[in-house]
Amino acid sequence: MSRTRLAGACMKKKTTSAILGSVIDMIMASAKDSHPNEFACSLRAEDGIITEVILVPGTISGNTSAILRLYMLPIDFSIVGTAHSHPSPNGNPSPADLGLFSRYGNVHLIAHYPYTRSSWKAYDRQGQFVELTVL
Ligand SMILES: [Zn+2]
Repeated sequence: MSRTRLAGACMKKKTTSAILGSVIDMIMASAKDSHPNEFACSLRAEDGIITEVILVPGTISGNTSAILRLYMLPIDFSIVGTAHSHPSPNGNPSPADLGLFSRYGNVHLIAHYPYTRSSWKAYDRQGQFVELTVL
């Protein structure tokens, strides 16, 4: 396990390749609850698989942006990135999203209206589309 922790500390090198379907379901349920506001959370992964949604204390939801207060997070290298929702059918990252992506984590999900199992996209730090396998 100490090897995994070391790998986690070098977040840039670690690749996240899959996500549990139950995590997608939870993000979609939360996004629906927040609609028409945005929902935001962090993502935790084990061995390259996103297994958990971490709610960030003090996240501000608004109809144009959900601001993650990343400084509220504990130092936890199993956190690999973020997820947030768009209350429109547009799953493309905004300029603000790209700014966040470049500063934090290595995988970022955007869930978009109508919040079905397939209404999401994943991006890397540079805002490039990332293929994630749903397990
Ligand atoms: Zn966004």
